Formats: sequence, structure tokens, C-alpha cells
Amino acid sequence: MIIYKTEKQKELIRESCKIVNDAIAEVAKVIKPGMTTMQLNDIAEKYILSQNAIPSFKNYNGFPYACCISVNDAVVHGFPTDVLIKNGDVISVDVGAYKNGYHGDSAYTFAVGTISEEVKKLLKVTKESLYLGIHKAVNGNRVGDIAAAIQEFTERQNGYGVVRELVGHGLGSNLHEDPQVPNYGKRGTGTKLKSGLVIAIEPMVNMGTKDVYNDKDGWTIRTSDGKPAAHYEHTIYVDKNKADILSSFESIEIAEKGNSYLCSDY
Ligand code: MG
Ligand code: MG
Repeated sequence: MIIYKTEKQKELIRESCKIVNDAIAEVAKVIKPGMTTMQLNDIAEKYILSQNAIPSFKNYNGFPYACCISVNDAVVHGFPTDVLIKNGDVISVDVGAYKNGYHGDSAYTFAVGTISEEVKKLLKVTKESLYLGIHKAVNGNRVGDIAAAIQEFTERQNGYGVVRELVGHGLGSNLHEDPQVPNYGKRGTGTKLKSGLVIAIEPMVNMGTKDVYNDKDGWTIRTSDGKPAAHYEHTIYVDKNKADILSSFESIEIAEKGNSYLCSDY
């Protein structure tokens, strides 16, 4: 069942998204080789709590941490760990925050230090595919139009693998609501999009094969060929001519550019 949101609810979701994005920006300011992803998790969690919000992921279906932090071959749902971050790591940070009865959900992928042109292209293409998907999220289109736009660009035009097992989703007072929003599919199929629908669009794109497996921790999703993956996510509100993007990468991108340990020229 789809729960459409009012203008007022939309603004509350935007407020939660801002907390999410600023929490990821706090991470972007300090991330460097020699730190651990557990330290990054703690920084984001502390920020969320300081905004009188609750980390959406902590204890969600038993997930033990505030953030999903997925390094290199980990695609999504990674556990923060005490492993030291090193030059060349590709680190996706996925965060949710709950405030005033509504969740916000967003994710961003960082590259630490010197990375290959190949990895730069993966990040660039994945981020671009997110906006191509968002561009289709307007009244009268269907979920399949978003999915096809992402798949066309990442798989057909760039030869990457789009993860099938995990998808974007509706959200609001629940972290996951209907409809599911896959990153692959056929144009003109699926749920019809209508003003008031709030969805998280989140392409998960593998440099190599689309195939993934579940790590023995029961959560972390990894690429079957061990190659890196990228993941970007926005929460958006479907509207007439243009989707309203409720999350924003602005504070994250400023922090990314300002942190000399992060690669930002991709
Ligand atoms: Mg997320
Ligand atoms: Mg999500």
C-alpha cells in the first residue's frame, strides 16, 4: 500500500534528510587513512543525536549500528569495523535519521587518496545515474522508467553490473514503504508515479559482475568478483514536472572538496 505525503509531511522528511546529509558531511570532513569505519559511524551517530534525531538503521531488523559503511567490494549494508582505512579505499556511507515521526535516507560514496581512473569513472557514472533516475520521477511516469534510465546508463552504456537483489523504496513514517524502486527494469512498467509519493532512489552499481553474495556477518552484501561497487542515494518527492529532491549532497560535496585525503576530481 502506498502512503502519499502532504506538503507538510514532505517538509518534515526534508528536515530528516538534512540531518542525514549533514551527518555524512561530518564524516567527509575527517575521513582519512588510518581511521576506522567505526570511528566514522560514531561521528555520524553523535551528529544525528545532537540534532534530536534517532539513527534510523540502528536496531532496524537487528542491524547493530547507526550507519551502513561498505568498503571496496562491499556494496551495501556493511558493518562499521576497526579495520584501518587505507589509501585507495572506496567507502560508501549510508545513513538514515528519524525525527518528528519521519525518516530521511541518503548515501554517498567516497574515494580515499589516490584512485585509478577506472574507479573514478565508476563513481561518476553511478552518481550521474542517480540523477538520470530522479529526472524520470514525475507524475504519470512509472517506477520502471526510473529503473530503465539507471540500468540503460550504467549497464548498457558503461558495462557495469546493477545489483538485482536490493532496491530503492518508498519511505515516510516507516523506513521502508511501498513501492520498491529497482535500478533495473522496463520502461512503462510498474507502479504509476503520482504527486505525493516519496521514494529513495539508490543505484548500487558494481564495476564488474552484477552478482553479489551475503557475507557471513549476515548483513554485508559483497560483489561476487571482488571488484568495487558504488552507491548513491537521494530521498525524493514525486511532483508534476520535476521531482523535489529532499536530500542534498551540497554539504557533503563541499566537505569532500575540502578534505585533501579524499579524491573529488571524478
Ligand atoms: Mg540509505
Ligand atoms: Mg534506502
